[in-house]
Amino acid sequence: MTGYAASLRRLIRTTGPVPVARYMAESNAHYYATRDPLGRNPSGRGGDFTTAPEISQMFGEMLGLWLADHWQKAGVPRDIAYVELGPGRGTLAADALRAMGAASLDPEIHFVEASPVLRKAQERATPGAAFHEDLTSLPEDRPLLIVANEYFDALPVRQLVRTDQGWRERMVGLEDDRLVPVAGAQAMDSALPKERRDAPTGTIIETAPAQVAQMRELAQRLAKQGGAALVLDYGYARPHTGSTLQAVRAHEKVDPFAHPGEADLTAHVDFLALADTAIAAQAQVLGIATQGDLLRAIGIERRAEALKQAAPARADEIATALERLVSTDQMGTLFKALLIAGAGWGD
Ligand code: SAH
Repeated sequence: MTGYAASLRRLIRTTGPVPVARYMAESNAHYYATRDPLGRNPSGRGGDFTTAPEISQMFGEMLGLWLADHWQKAGVPRDIAYVELGPGRGTLAADALRAMGAASLDPEIHFVEASPVLRKAQERATPGAAFHEDLTSLPEDRPLLIVANEYFDALPVRQLVRTDQGWRERMVGLEDDRLVPVAGAQAMDSALPKERRDAPTGTIIETAPAQVAQMRELAQRLAKQGGAALVLDYGYARPHTGSTLQAVRAHEKVDPFAHPGEADLTAHVDFLALADTAIAAQAQVLGIATQGDLLRAIGIERRAEALKQAAPARADEIATALERLVSTDQMGTLFKALLIAGAGWGD
């Protein structure tokens, strides 16, 4: 057992269950601080999961073109910052910045990244970036072009569960030395609006206060400083109930409570909640699109053709990557994008 898993068990044994949100926050902090989850060995295997920018350069290029287009709509202002939240291996940033450069956009680079291991990888892929622990220290004197891919899903969700005694916070407790979800001791009925309280025993309601807080900060900055943002993640664009907490390890789904700090914990992103938050903070929501529709609208199919012509030996590989990014049975529909802009940066 790792030191983190042992100390978490000790904490629960001595002080009682911890909220799911705290479990998710601390387990992910340990997870990302101690490894590169996207890392692959030369045979292409290894790591825990693969993300869109690691599938093909086309993904980052398309996002870069979208940002450059909005910069042009705003009249090509000077002194811009490219901001990426949770940049992983830095691959998306390198591809997006290359595409922006072709459009004569050459922004300052700012990364919000907590993991020292991933900061090293990002520095190699995209030299010259300034690193930030959180959003508060991002520049305030210029428009921001913001990208977050599979970042919001890693932020902690809070869960409430309906028991026979009413609503309780969903916690993580111990059963024979195994971590298991349990209901907290305190009544939480008044934490829910009246119309949501009546639900069958076992119903789980998930909220994401950390996602909302970070979206509010981004949207306020876009409203004040100008700029545009693309937030991509898997998630839903309609109201839902139930837990979406999941864990992935070595490319397999595993029990979210079985490997604390050793598996990637995520929750589906509630795009309607993020869009409402952005609107309330005076930013323009340009839309919510599926990843497939967004990438096709920017021109990924044309880009794939050009890449195939330049490297005919790689044509099959490029076609497979395109399929993975846009088709409905792969990432095209489950993954969605929220498109936001400051005043004068929209359509
Ligand atoms: N965007 C990348 C990586 C996604 S993995 C890609 O598409 O490949 C999630 C990323 O978010 C990692 O870089 C991780 O270290 C970072 N991250 C997760 N939680 C974070 C937090 N609370 N603060 C800052 N970075 C965080």
